[in-house]
Amino acid sequence: MFYLLILILQMKLIRQITDLNKAISNQKELGFVPTMGSLHKGHTSLINSSKQKCKKTLVSIFVNPTQFNSTNDFKNYPRDLNKDIKLLKSLKVDFLYVPTVSQIYNNKKRRVTRLNKSQKILCAKFRKGHFEGVLDVLNRFTNIIKPKKIFMGEKDYQQFFLVRYFIEKKYKTKIIACKTIRDINKVALSSRNSLLDLENLKKVGKISLTLIKLKNLIKDNIKNKKLIKKIKIDLIKKFKIKIEYLECRNLINLNTNLKDKPFKLFVAYYLKGVRLIDNF
Ligand code: AMP
Repeated sequence: MFYLLILILQMKLIRQITDLNKAISNQKELGFVPTMGSLHKGHTSLINSSKQKCKKTLVSIFVNPTQFNSTNDFKNYPRDLNKDIKLLKSLKVDFLYVPTVSQIYNNKKRRVTRLNKSQKILCAKFRKGHFEGVLDVLNRFTNIIKPKKIFMGEKDYQQFFLVRYFIEKKYKTKIIACKTIRDINKVALSSRNSLLDLENLKKVGKISLTLIKLKNLIKDNIKNKKLIKKIKIDLIKKFKIKIEYLECRNLINLNTNLKDKPFKLFVAYYLKGVRLIDNF
């Protein structure tokens, strides 16, 4: 009896779609946390939200090849499945789904969604095909899993924004945004941080602090493109980074009209060849 209980309470590690279908066929209130693994406290917070709001929680680990712009970036993406499994067990996640590429794509790499002109901003402008890949894979996952809620991080705000728009239009699933988790130096946790040494992580902290201050200044003075330009030049010089974008956008439709609307300062930059994104 005791062993049976342990077996029931144990996290189910699932690799085949057929097993997944069996395991979740009776789950009506499933929370889903899609990830690419190399888990950190940002992912943990999404999982905890799901556990609070849903009866059962399913986490996926899938490094989705179609959302990478370069093969090297895909190859170098940090992976540590054994460590992730240990963490997820300790968090008492109900299901972990780790599919292969061929299971998800059936060897057909089909793009389901095209972005329109107004959506080709921020990361979509610089990472051609990235969000098409994200939307395609999340469409496939949602179709298979039919979760009640999907939990996503505000750190990737544009991703959350586009996924909410496309998935909620097509499915009953609700997309839930979760706050960005930072370390004590204000560095947003990210799997890609493991590609940086301590010295460079300290730089990321300093850049984040500068941008938090900048955002607070902009709060009081909305039309402040000149100030943003100045800080951008300072950051490039001081930290030897390549900034792809540093701009404010409102949170309602992500356009640049900030008047009377909540907004965030969005940034994407390369430090030592590692691409980092954040918003404040
Ligand atoms: P990833 O594994 O990087 O694809 O991320 C999986 C999910 O975790 C996405 O919804 C991310 O937005 C979210 N996420 C990543 N980093 C953080 C963070 N620092 N705080 C909160 N959520 C995060």
